[in-house]
Amino acid sequence: MTEKDRDSGTSASPESILTHSGRASEDHLGFVNMPVFRGSTILFRTLDELEDYGAPYRYGRNDNPTTLALGKLVSELEGAEGTVIAPSGLSAVTTAILATVAAGDEILISDSAYDPTRVFSVEGLSRYGIGCRFYDPRIGAGIADLITDRTKAVYVESPGSLTFEIQDLPAIAAAAHARGATVISDNSWATPLYHRPLQLGADIVVHAATKMFVGHSDAMVGTASANAALWPRLKRTHRILGVATSPDDSYLTLRGMRTLAVRMKEHGARSLELAAWLQRQPGVEEVYHPGLPTHPDHDLFKRDFSGSGSLFAMRLREAPRAAIAAMVNGLQLFGMGYSWGGYESLCIPFNPSNIRTAVPWDVKGQMFRVHVGLEGFDDLKADMSAALARYNEASA
Ligand SMILES: *Cc1c(COP(=O)(O)O)cnc(C)c1O
Repeated sequence: MTEKDRDSGTSASPESILTHSGRASEDHLGFVNMPVFRGSTILFRTLDELEDYGAPYRYGRNDNPTTLALGKLVSELEGAEGTVIAPSGLSAVTTAILATVAAGDEILISDSAYDPTRVFSVEGLSRYGIGCRFYDPRIGAGIADLITDRTKAVYVESPGSLTFEIQDLPAIAAAAHARGATVISDNSWATPLYHRPLQLGADIVVHAATKMFVGHSDAMVGTASANAALWPRLKRTHRILGVATSPDDSYLTLRGMRTLAVRMKEHGARSLELAAWLQRQPGVEEVYHPGLPTHPDHDLFKRDFSGSGSLFAMRLREAPRAAIAAMVNGLQLFGMGYSWGGYESLCIPFNPSNIRTAVPWDVKGQMFRVHVGLEGFDDLKADMSAALARYNEASA
């Protein structure tokens, strides 16, 4: 079987795609992994070659074999026509949005979307005469009432960053498509292993590859994949903006993805188990994890997702800042930091009411976001148990 045969097997399972796609071992002396091709200039031997604009490799910004291999792998996983690679998740998001709107248009964005996505849409797009309105993540088919002739794109993020609402993507996509609007979905949480937005009606799916794809907290990368209708526009937008990604970072992403299936299985099972355990701990008022049967969107989750991500939130009773400090400053295994998706556990406090506009967040209490890593599970429970005890004591 040649590398080509392996790569194009449409019936291959995600695990086989993750282990075989984009390696092209036979093209480089049999070495298993796609090498890092560092380079800007690609040399042509003749004038004919120089003028062959259809040749696959012409200039390093667009035609890097390591980066193209990553795009191919993500396309196979998402069932996409094509994928562009960007130097951060946010630049993949902005490239996807810029591919769908122009001056005079408007985009609708879920109120639960990742905050920098919101900031770009408010502050960035307005400079170019593009409008933006936020909608209730639980709006479902009701989005039809918000869509006007100006609405050219609807942005979905499911579950929502920080607050974990599941969105009814098929219903939103049906309403958007009825009015000719494009649907973009941020799939960073579930990965294509557990949720496939293009199959549920989205036109473009974006990933903060920085998170689960890279998996080791050591690179910033983003991906945007499109269906056949949107691919030419996405590819062209990526090209004219000059969005280029370091081949070293593409390599790290490819390497991380080889083990994505086993990591996701472990992260997902642990996050569900820790979430269920936290629900029973004193002082925990609510746990926001769509995989829990008590989550208000659990039925949608069961319908549209086949597994769980690593990340969820919990709410403790309102307490002074000193209680939050006592809790997080004493954590031994859970680190405090932004991003997520690495092998190491994280826990940070946050406040959604600073972000929300369509559906103000007026729930009393202190929110924490938890990313469950691969440490010993009992060690993680002990660390969290002691943290809750410090919090409860300081807030009593
Ligand atoms: C982190 C994140 C992004 C942005 O990714 P960066 O690589 O940090 O730019 C986008 N969407 C979601 C859901 C994220 O968590």
